[in-house]
Amino acid sequence: MLQQTQVATVVPYYLRFLQQFPDINSLALASLDAVLSLWSGLGYYARGRNLHRAAQIIVDQYNGIFPHDLKLIQQLPGVGRSTAAAIAVFAYGEEYAILDGNVKRVFARYFGINGYPGAKDTETLLWQKAEELIPRKDIVGQIQTYTQALMDLGATICTRSRPQCSVCPLRIDCIALRENRVDKLPTARPRKLLPQKETVMLMMLQQNWVLLQKRPLTGIWGGLWCLPEISLTEDTNSYCQQQFGLNVRVMAELPPLDHSFTHFKLRIYPRPLHIISPVIAHKNYGLTRFSFEDALGAAIPTAVRRLLLMAPKLTS
Ligand code: SF4
Repeated sequence: MLQQTQVATVVPYYLRFLQQFPDINSLALASLDAVLSLWSGLGYYARGRNLHRAAQIIVDQYNGIFPHDLKLIQQLPGVGRSTAAAIAVFAYGEEYAILDGNVKRVFARYFGINGYPGAKDTETLLWQKAEELIPRKDIVGQIQTYTQALMDLGATICTRSRPQCSVCPLRIDCIALRENRVDKLPTARPRKLLPQKETVMLMMLQQNWVLLQKRPLTGIWGGLWCLPEISLTEDTNSYCQQQFGLNVRVMAELPPLDHSFTHFKLRIYPRPLHIISPVIAHKNYGLTRFSFEDALGAAIPTAVRRLLLMAPKLTS
């Protein structure tokens, strides 16, 4: 949950998640829908899908016992080299190097390493430094203390903005501090303009109902409930008739909503539609009928939640 998300945001989600799924078995047995509904609003839903899948693999392949071997840990969905190493260090006292975003920042500054840390060459160099610094094997408990200290240093002292160099235990040898380059390191990600995409989302409404469609497991918002989408040029009435067998009346337009993903920006044009034909058995068309209350409590992305809150209220 903490990947790309701040602790303060994560805490309530984390507590709710642990209350619902206190162990690997309960998580493995849960439906993906139940997992994603607890993730709803947190974003980066692949993390929730990966966690769920990982729990299922641990139950199916490892008898519910978390694997010990670094390579096996790293094979779990969503677990990269640094996360696998952190698990092996803290859970089993194994001696591996970690290199998360905070640690990259500490190393880039302390060693005065130029280059965007996400670039292959810079990352290789940072991993090399991380490996070299692992404490010697003969001191019991040292690896956990060292790893925790490194993570805490990056999270609390050597922060992205306004690091507290005056109280930093590394200040004597820190190259960035000595060369007055603290605010230049780590090198920023090369600027790239994000492509802008556009879509129309159909808010198919009747009385207190809205029709939602489950997205495929892969891709953006995988496995979440969403409003059906059409392109800007598609004819709404004939699309609804052909795809869903529904007659609709297009209602007054709502203002567009902008949503940013890591790789692109999406402008959503919400199109409220009053369904004229009776709403029955729409599961056949990949649609499911939700009351607004249920829809807002379901596994939906934040953008869809915002759209549903904008939807006109119907009485018929
Ligand atoms: S002295 Fe400053 S820049 Fe260097 S490691 Fe410490 S907090 Fe980071």
